[in-house]
Amino acid sequence: MKDQYGRTIDYLRISITDACNLRCRYCMPESAAGCALEQAEQNPPLTVEEMLKIVHAAAGLGITHYRITGGEPLVRKECVGLVQKIKAVPGTASVGITTNGVRLASCARDLKAAGCDSVNVSLDTVDAAEFAALTGRDALEQVKQGICAAKEAGLLVKLNAVHRKELHAQELIEFAEQEKVPVRFIEVMPVGAGKSYVGPSNEALKTELEQWYGACTPDLEKEGNGPAAYVRYEKLSMPVGFISAIHGKFCGSCNRVRLTSRGFLKLCLCYENGVDLREVLQNGTAADLRDVMAQAILKKPMEHCFERPKDMTEHHLMSGIGG
Ligand code: SAM
Ligand code: SF4
Repeated sequence: MKDQYGRTIDYLRISITDACNLRCRYCMPESAAGCALEQAEQNPPLTVEEMLKIVHAAAGLGITHYRITGGEPLVRKECVGLVQKIKAVPGTASVGITTNGVRLASCARDLKAAGCDSVNVSLDTVDAAEFAALTGRDALEQVKQGICAAKEAGLLVKLNAVHRKELHAQELIEFAEQEKVPVRFIEVMPVGAGKSYVGPSNEALKTELEQWYGACTPDLEKEGNGPAAYVRYEKLSMPVGFISAIHGKFCGSCNRVRLTSRGFLKLCLCYENGVDLREVLQNGTAADLRDVMAQAILKKPMEHCFERPKDMTEHHLMSGIGG
C-alpha cells in the first residue's frame, strides 16, 4: 500500500524477541539488560500464530518483503519455523534475518531449507578482544563460524558494521574481501544507548577509504530492499555499502514499518507512533486487523528527526525495536 506521502510500503521488519545473547554497548548494555528482561516478563512476546496473522494481514496490504530481527532472533527456537511459515504466505517475495551470528552455525542449513533468502550478520570488529569489550561476550569465533556455515549452506550473507568512532573499517573490509561477502557501514542512530555513539559520517568514511582502495564509483546494481548505497573501489572485489540515516537522510524512499515482539506496529524508528495490535489480534477479525494496520501505515511520519534528538519520542532500546 501507499502511505500518506505516496511511498510504497512493502517491507516489514519483525522483531521476534527483545532478548539477546550479546550486550552491545550501543544497543543493550549490561546496565539496561535487566530492565528489558523485566518488561518481557510483564508483557510476553507474540506467539508464532499471532505473528502469522499479522503477516497475512500485511500481505493483504501489499507487504512482500520481511526481515526477522530482535533482540537476537536465533535465541528464539521458533525462528527457523517462522521463516518457513512466512515464506509460505501467498505474496511473500523474500524473508531475511538479521543476526549477531553467535548461533548461526548450528542453524544455517535449516534456515536455507526453510527458504531464508538472506542473512545479515552484525559484526563491528574482527579483533577478538575488542569484540569481547564491545559485546560483553567472547564470541567472535562463533560469529566467524556462523558466517562460514551460512555461506556453505548457500545463504546470501552480508555484514553490517555500526560506524562508531573507534571503527577499524579497513580490518572489516579485508575480512569481508577474504570471506567474499559485502560489508555495510551503518551510521549510529540516537536510539536508546546509541545516543552516546552518534557522530561519525559515512560520507567522510567513504572518501577516507579511497586512499587505501582507490577511487570509488556508485554501484548502480541495487542490492536488497534496503537503504544501503553501494560503491565499488578500484582495488576491492566486493562492493561496500553505506547506510547513512543521519548524514544521508533517505526518508523519502522509506518502504518499511516495524513490528515489535510485543505486537506494536511501529512506523518510524524515531517516534513512538504506531498501533498496539494485541487488542485487535485477540478480539477482532482478520479484516479488522488489516484495517487497523492500514490506518496506521497511512499515517507513517514523513521523516525522522534524529538531527534534533529533543523532538524524538522513541525512548526504547534498539534491541526492543529491532534495528
Ligand atoms: N541481534 C541482531 C543483530 O545484532 O544483528 C538483530 C537486532 S540488532 C538491534 C539489528 C541491527 O541494529 C544490528 O546491526 C545493530 O548493530 C544495529 N543497531 C543497534 N543499535 C543501533 C543504533 N543505535 N544505531 C544504528 N544501528 C544500531
Ligand atoms: Fe543484541 Fe543485536 Fe543489540 Fe547487539 S545489536 S545487543 S546483538 S540486539
